[in-house]
Parts: sequence; structure tokens; C-alpha cells
Amino acid sequence: MQILLLGSGGREHALAWKIAQSPLLKKLYIGPGNAGTSECGENVPLSVNDFEGIRKFVLGKGINMLVVGPEDPLVKGIHDFFLADPLLNKIPVIGPVAKAALLEGSKDFAKQFMIRHGIPTAAYKTFNVSNIDQGYTFIGSLKPPYVLKADGLAAGKGVVICQDLASALQEFNAMVRDSKFGQASAKVVVEEFLSGIECSAFVITDGISYLVLPEAKDYKKIGEGDTGPNTGGMGSVSPVPFADRDFLKKVEDRVIRPTVEGLKKDGLDYTGFIFFGLIKVNGDPYVIEYNCRMGDPETESVVPRIKNDLVELLKAVAERKLGEHRIITDPGTCATVMLVSKGYPDAYEKGKTITGAGSVEGSMVFHAGTSVKEGKVVTNGGRVIAVTSLGPGMKEALAATYRNAEKIEFDGRYFRRDIGFDL
Ligand code: AMP
Repeated sequence: MQILLLGSGGREHALAWKIAQSPLLKKLYIGPGNAGTSECGENVPLSVNDFEGIRKFVLGKGINMLVVGPEDPLVKGIHDFFLADPLLNKIPVIGPVAKAALLEGSKDFAKQFMIRHGIPTAAYKTFNVSNIDQGYTFIGSLKPPYVLKADGLAAGKGVVICQDLASALQEFNAMVRDSKFGQASAKVVVEEFLSGIECSAFVITDGISYLVLPEAKDYKKIGEGDTGPNTGGMGSVSPVPFADRDFLKKVEDRVIRPTVEGLKKDGLDYTGFIFFGLIKVNGDPYVIEYNCRMGDPETESVVPRIKNDLVELLKAVAERKLGEHRIITDPGTCATVMLVSKGYPDAYEKGKTITGAGSVEGSMVFHAGTSVKEGKVVTNGGRVIAVTSLGPGMKEALAATYRNAEKIEFDGRYFRRDIGFDL
């Protein structure tokens, strides 16, 4: 098979690393990729939202499968674009059509979906400028803390949690009236606050059946002890000790199966990955969010634990034969730490030379924000490189990850030294 993988982060490097191991693969292209993905296939200078450019490339190279890493092209309808084109519509796309990608693209859509299909989630109401006064009243009727969510995609920044009523009302106003998150906050979901511990579940589905992938926990805050502003993710661990057999069974029975069945009932054809952001409250799972793709940096901890040939699974999705497969999971623990640029998640500098990745032993190195400049690997983003280790237990995996993370250096490098601290 000739596969084009879209994206340029650590998630895509981990997927590319796994895809490249398949005997079914003839050639892998990554568009646009990063310095790390070029070791798994050929990077091509494609922008993930340039559908015409992607079309030309796919037809020119005889690509037989498109794997979409990030959410943006899915929400913008890349799968629909392929279906509508007589020359592309036989080429399978891993990633849902736009209507189904709304599970991530619209919080209000996702909440309505969950309510319709009896999937446990926080109570909520949605407001816009036309009923903003009812929004003030509703917020006033809740107890703190207050959870406000921009309806649309806001680069992971659209959820605001306010500790007191005055700041919640002010924030709500800024989102709805002052377009704090642009068009994404024209609608705002106001939600009951749930108190518990979070983890993420993942499935791959062909729209008929599904396979549950290993679960993971990620660390979103920049600072140790889960302090400071949110980031794209500073590390991850899989499996998650508190997600025991009993809890995972509830997740499958109450969340995963009803979601896949709900998509079918609603006539939403879904081929690809579903990410479930979960919170465990008194032993029970509630859905915090859906994503229409894999998470980053969860993928870096999930993919190395999957023993199956990933291309074989992707092919089964395309052929709607996923039901004939089962997931084989490594019983060990995977631990990932993300090395980031100084200043991230605020402003940071790019172009710093990265050294030491060659001396890593016993860990995997997944590039995120890197590129090659004048023959050197340099930083090209806030999240730069993920170091991942698979060990018999969390202690061993973390020890290997931290030993190797120290070896990779660049000016302003920062990473959290407490991944897994709460497990
Ligand atoms: P999201 O972008 O929807 O994943 O939300 C970002 C973060 O906000 C989540 O990872 C949670 O930590 C928190 N959060 C979202 N919704 C709730 C809620 N209803 N109750 C408590 N925390 C929440």
C-alpha cells in the first residue's frame, strides 16, 4: 500500500513509526511531517488544509489510503472532499466525514448527541447572543466552579473554568459578545462542574464494529503538580492504574458502545479513531469531550503498546472488516514526556539546534515541533520532542524516559519531571 499521512506532530511521528513497520506498506508519505517522520517515510510539503494540493499529490503518486492525523482537515471536510470526487472516492480515508467530526467540532453537537443516546455527561445548556440573558440567569443558578466551553474549535483553549460567579459572568460575556475565541465562541456551552480523575479511551471503528485501544492519561498543565496554564500536553502514561477492569467495562458498556451505535442510528458514517475524554466520578465514567482523532501526546504512549500490524487494522477499517480482528496489547507500561521550548505555551523562539537524540538508548524519540535547517535538526514549535519508553511497569518506563530525556538538549529546553506523580 502507498499511504499518505497528514500532520506534523508527535502523534503523526508515532503513527508513522508504527505504519512503517508493516509488511503491507510499500511507501509512506507524510504531509508535511517533521524531522522525525522523515525517518519513517518521505516528507512532502503539503499543508493539511490544502485539499486541492492533497488531491493532486494523491492522484500523481497513486496513493491508496489517506490517514488524517489532526482534527482541522476532518472538521473542514477532507473526507467529504474525497467522497465527492470521482477520481478520489474509492480511496479510503481514515478519519470521519465532517458531519461526524462535529463530535469534536461542536461541543453543543457532542452534548446533544450524548443526551440523545443516553451517554453519561455533565448537565449543560447552550447559549448565544440571542439568549444571553438566560445564560446569565443559568450561570447564576449553578454552584462554583463554573465550566464555560466555546462551541467550536479553539486550538484546545476554548474551555474556561471560573472559580467565582463574577468572573464566570465576565468570561461568558467576553466569549459570546466580544468573540473572545472568534466565531468558535458565538455559541457557549455552560456545564455542571464534575469532580474526579481524568483519563482517555480510544477506539478505532469502521462504522460497524470497533476495537478498543489501550487507555491513557495525559498531563495538560505546564507546571509540575498540575499547575499553571494548559498546554497541548506535557506527557502521558498507558495503562492507567485507576482505570481498572471494572471501570473499563463501564466505559465500554456506557460510553463506547452507545457512541458507535449512536453514530449508526444517526446515519453518521464513521471510519477512524474516536477519542473519549473521560472523568471518573465515584467509580463511574462521564464524557468530558470527544475528539475525532487520536490525542497527542497520548498516541505516543498508546501506539507502542499495540502489537497488531496497524496497516492491517487500517485496511480492515477501509474494507469494513474490523470485526474480524482483535487488539493485542503489550501488558507493559508506556511513559511519555514532552520536551518543550522555553516560554511555551506563551510565546517562544524557534530554530534552536537539537542535539543528543542519537545517544538515546532504550527509549523511543517522537518528534513534534522539529524541522531540518542547513542539515541540522532544529526546534520548530512549542512542543518539540517526546521521549517514550515501554517497560514492565510505570517505574521502569519513567526511569528510562527521564534518563533519555536528559540527553536531548536544546537552548531553553523544559520538561515536567513529575509525569505519573498522581498514579
Ligand atoms: P476539554 O477541552 O473539553 O477537554 O476540557 C478541558 C479540560 O477542562 C478537561 O480536560 C477538564 O480538566 C476540564 N473540564 C471540562 N469539562 C469539565 C467539567 N464538566 N467538569 C470539570 N472539569 C471539566
